[in-house]
Parts: sequence; structure tokens; C-alpha cells
Amino acid sequence: MKLNSVTGTFLKNESMANHTSWRCGGRAAFFFEPRSLKDLGIFLASFKEKKEIFLVGLGSNLLVRDKGFDGVIISTAKFLNKIQWKGEFSELNVECGVSCAKIARESVKKNMKGLEFFVGIPGTVGGALKMNAGANGKDTWQNIKSVDVISREGYIETLDRNSFNPGYRTIDGKNKWFVKACFHLEKNLNKDGSAKIKEILSQRKVTQPTGSFSCGSVFINPENYFAGKLIEECGLKGVRVGGAIVSEKHANFILNDRGASASDIEKLIELVRNQVRKKTGIKLECEVKIIGKKTNE
Ligand SMILES: Cc1cc2nc3c(=O)[nH]c(=O)nc-3n(C[C@H](O)[C@H](O)[C@H](O)COP(=O)(O)OP(=O)(O)OC[C@H]3O[C@@H](n4cnc5c(N)ncnc54)[C@H](O)[C@@H]3O)c2cc1C
Repeated sequence: MKLNSVTGTFLKNESMANHTSWRCGGRAAFFFEPRSLKDLGIFLASFKEKKEIFLVGLGSNLLVRDKGFDGVIISTAKFLNKIQWKGEFSELNVECGVSCAKIARESVKKNMKGLEFFVGIPGTVGGALKMNAGANGKDTWQNIKSVDVISREGYIETLDRNSFNPGYRTIDGKNKWFVKACFHLEKNLNKDGSAKIKEILSQRKVTQPTGSFSCGSVFINPENYFAGKLIEECGLKGVRVGGAIVSEKHANFILNDRGASASDIEKLIELVRNQVRKKTGIKLECEVKIIGKKTNE
């Protein structure tokens, strides 16, 4: 493998506990942090091994199994974070590694509205596009005008919003690697962006656990139900496997409060899913992405 002209950080056997918000999990066989989009393109064009490639942002919706991931993790959060405004601030262009909180605050500073909800989402724009992350009745794709995607060979193309069919925490199964997003924004005539941000953050403090490692909501809300409420009604708050526990504050959160392994967390996810199914007949689907070798592989 010749990666001579790449300027980003290329590591082998990197612990993914350093790159996920659950702060646990196995190692990535290869780990690359591109310095720029050009660098990412060069890497993809020159990395010829037939290994699975997986993009990560801030790992705030990701569990990497303890036996590790035998492929390439490309991590965008450190360097791919350029921001550019256009057209009297009606267009915000960002690279995929920019944090969601940053675009919320930057847009409010410019008195533009629509992205305030991002302030409480601890991921990157790339992760938000993939997950169609949302909160407070808003989601990522509502304000998208276009996105840039990169191919396995390293070519970038721009696709407009209509090329995608985003739904609740999904974008219709399209497996694209997002490198840039262009948001269309409107002026906030009420000038209440800062107040909205304050309100969102204080509401989160009341309803969500803080101070322990988590991935936010583990399960997607089934139609007409709230996953957290179902889990709570099944009496599962406080249930523990090893170092992982179902939060007492918000039952859809699993916390790593005592040095949990990824396996503790995955077992607890299964336990919750089985109990809810047994007691209510409803099958919970994971919102969190789980990758890596299973223990029996
Ligand atoms: C405390 C807490 C609160 C949260 N609250 C919310 C919330 O209110 N609403 C909500 O929706 N989520 C919430 N989350 C979950 C999470 O923050 C979001 O899903 C976020 O969008 C994930 O972004 P990320 O950069 O961390 O993605 P990662 O966890 O790194 O990756 C998640 C998925 O996105 C893919 N991905 C990452 N970058 C790219 C890219 N550039 N191109 C293509 N695919 C990519 C990965 O391959 C993976 O499949 C919360 C998490 C925590 C820890």
C-alpha cells in the first residue's frame, strides 16, 4: 500500500474507544484522519486493499464491538471543518466534520434561523446527514439545498436535495459518503435564536442524563410510541449489564458509567429489546450503528 502523498494521520490498530462517545469498544485495523477533502480523495484513490471503509464523525451514534473492526475507519471530525457563508448568509456551506453545535451557534450569530435544534446534538454534519438527526420537531435534511458526496475512488460530486428521500432517522438506505453540505437559511425576523438555544439546552439538562458516556437514544421510536416510555413501562430503568446501565433519567439512554465493554452495552441493548418485545409485542429497532466482529466470529 503506497500512501506517500497523504498528509493526514494514518494509524494501525487504533482504539475506537478514543473516537466514540460511549468511550469503549475495539480497535480499527486502519484509521485515517484526512487533513483536507483533497487529502481524503488521494487516500481513497491510493488505498487499493479490499477492506471495508467506514466514515465516522464524532462517534456519538456508534458502537464498535470489542473484537474490533477489520477495515478502515475514516474520521472526519478533526480536520474537515471548513465553514463558508454565501449570499447575505442565506447559504451555509460546511465540510462534513463540522460539529452540529457549531452550525447552530454560527447561524444564530448571523441571525439566521432553522438550525438552532442542532445545538444539543453532539455529532458532526456528516453523521447528521447520514442519520437525518433531529430534535425539537426539526431534522437535518429540512434545510439542505445540496450535498457533496465522495466515491470509493475519491471523486466528489454535488447532488441536490431531491436525490434523497430522507425519513425518520434515515435517508432511504442510500449508502453515501457525505463530504459537504449546503444549508439554505432564512433571516430570523424575531431575533430569538439565542433564546431558543438556551431553552433547548436547559430542556436537555432536565430530560437527559449528563456526566456519563452515552450515545443518546439507543432505539428509534416505533410508530405511535416513544421507545423510552415503553422501556420505562417495562420496568427496565436501572437494569445493568457489567458497566452499562439503562438510565434512570431517560430510559432510552444506555450509559457507560463503570468502564463498560462494548459487549456489556450490546448485551444490555438485546436484553431491553427482548423484554420490551415479550411484554408489549413491539420490536425496537436500534438507532445506534453497531460495527465490528461479533464475539463468535
Ligand atoms: C448525549 C447525546 C444526545 C443526542 N441527541 C440526539 C438528538 O437529539 N437527535 C438525534 O438525531 N441524535 C442525537 N444523538 C445521536 C448522535 O449525536 C447523532 O446521530 C449524530 O448525528 C451522529 O453524528 P456523528 O458525527 O457522531 O456520527 P457517528 O456516530 O460518527 O456515525 C453515525 C453514522 O453516521 C455515519 N457517518 C458519519 N459521518 C459520515 C459522513 N461524513 N458521511 C456518511 N456517513 C457518515 C457513520 O458511518 C455511522 O453510520 C445524541 C447523542 C448523544 C451522545
